Amino acid sequence: ASGYSLLRDPHHNKGLAFNEKERDSHYLCGLLPPTVVSQELQVSFFLSPLSLFQSIVKKMMHNIRNYQVPLQRYMAMMDLQERNQRLFYKLLMDNVEELLPIVYTPTVGEACQKYGSIFNRPQGLFISLKEKGKILEVLRNWPEKNIQVIVVTDGERILGLGDLGCQGMGIPVGKLSLYTALGGVRPSACLPITIDVGTNNEELLNDEFYIGLRQKRATGQEYAELLHEFMTAVKQNYGEKVLVQFEDFANHNAFNLLEKYGTTHLVFNDDIQGTASVVLAGLISAMKFVGGSLADHTFLFLGAGEAGTGIAELIALEISKQTNMPVEETRKKVWLVDSKGLIVSSRAESLQHFKRPWAHEHEPVTELVDAVNKIKPTVLIGTSGQGKTFTKEVVEAMSALNEKPIILALSNPTSQSECTAEEAYTWSQGRAIFASGSPFESVEYEGKVHVPGQSNNAYIFPGLGLGLIMSGTIRVHDDMLLVAAEALAAEVSQENFDKGLIYPPFKNIRKISAHIAAKVAAKSYELGLATRLPPPKDLVKYAESCMYSPSYRTYR
Ligand code: NAP
Ligand code: MN
Repeated sequence: ASGYSLLRDPHHNKGLAFNEKERDSHYLCGLLPPTVVSQELQVSFFLSPLSLFQSIVKKMMHNIRNYQVPLQRYMAMMDLQERNQRLFYKLLMDNVEELLPIVYTPTVGEACQKYGSIFNRPQGLFISLKEKGKILEVLRNWPEKNIQVIVVTDGERILGLGDLGCQGMGIPVGKLSLYTALGGVRPSACLPITIDVGTNNEELLNDEFYIGLRQKRATGQEYAELLHEFMTAVKQNYGEKVLVQFEDFANHNAFNLLEKYGTTHLVFNDDIQGTASVVLAGLISAMKFVGGSLADHTFLFLGAGEAGTGIAELIALEISKQTNMPVEETRKKVWLVDSKGLIVSSRAESLQHFKRPWAHEHEPVTELVDAVNKIKPTVLIGTSGQGKTFTKEVVEAMSALNEKPIILALSNPTSQSECTAEEAYTWSQGRAIFASGSPFESVEYEGKVHVPGQSNNAYIFPGLGLGLIMSGTIRVHDDMLLVAAEALAAEVSQENFDKGLIYPPFKNIRKISAHIAAKVAAKSYELGLATRLPPPKDLVKYAESCMYSPSYRTYR
């Protein structure tokens, strides 16, 4: 009986990779065909289209025709995660560049949209308004007790797709698989959670297969009370060192939650803080191409939400550290445009609180191109979620003002990008330094190949999380985001620069994560926020030694 259950236990199953001895001693004989294969062979077998096809066909007989290929792959991956966790992670780590877009954005977005009809097994915890008053009991229903990272969403702003309610669960699941694959956090220490307070998505409310609460979103006090019970229960059940990552909340809640729990819990918002750190890293390494330092630059944003103001604040903070100028002064180098135009002091009264620090003295400007010509930025950053907003006119204006304009089109998915890589290079006559949120292919312009960068949050949060966990940190501090950005920028090699890259290639991500983790931990010790004492001598080595390895264990 134990052999049979071993094969059904995703944490321990190795399939055909159980050797003869293990088969003998673990009652596996007869349960497997005679061949013994290596994990490497299993990986290559899984990657071949034929085996992919076979593994999916069985489960998805009826609806496979409705699915596009990336989603089929996603489902095959989720299926593998269920059946053989170590193989899943081995596959993901060995093929990170290829599989990242499958287990995370953009494919995960499509998976969320169809989540109700895809899954019926628990991949994480659902906490709805129905569980009010007993959230602590709900947490205790999860089989793992030793949790180090929780990624939680309320599903209101899933990627660029909007309110997907309870079906947002794909996001915490996907993010946590990256925590493990890229940052080496043990899978059993990761807990995905979706908080269901209803949805305002009419289509879902009318969908008979919708898996969530069929009601409009709770707001105000009702929302705040549920979240407060959740945050309290989490700390009570897992202690002070559990990391809670808020993911894909709508911006009014995102800023409030971060502010409210930042002083009592170890909380982190990837949309605000993780984005800020990864973009700052790109800007630091872009200085190699333009010379000078960040303080010599003027920044203009299109979009003043979670991403825009988060990045803006970290830039101001970094310049303040570099120059010893107060952050109130360095913020004046940064300007933002929202849906109503340039944020200026005459609008201050009516602005949401997170925009107020950016309301500088200036006459009102409504059009982006006019803002470019008046502010004369050296760096233009798109965080508006609105595609095609960096028009030819805008890019040409940037190129007329700057020898090498830095242009970051960060909105996701690809359809929402402010401009394409090709447009940025063509309209700037090959002079732009360009990166984007969604990946673009290289572009050849007048005989020269330009490789666009991707400001992917997956560069930062896994290493940052590892650094917090391994040092037993109890609060996130902005200085940790700064050192994480500097550590990432330091991983860009001369060879990468020669190709025009401002980010390092993803294939080295485990090493990059270890270096980020070490810097974050060092900062935490310096700030007195780390509880794992005494500090390890070599933090990089220690980070590496903490990282989960998916290689099979030998069963005795
Ligand atoms: P958000 O909080 O909703 O903010 C969106 C902002 O854009 C708001 O300030 C909004 O103005 C502004 N906006 C909307 N339409 C506009 C228009 N036509 N002209 C000017 N401004 C406009 O969203 P977010 O979380 O910051 O995300 C924004 C985008 O960034 C998304 O597409 C997301 O995918 C992307 N993102 C990329 C990365 C990355 O590259 N690593 C990371 C995170 C987010 P109002 O305030 O006036 O409504
Ligand atoms: Mn997000």
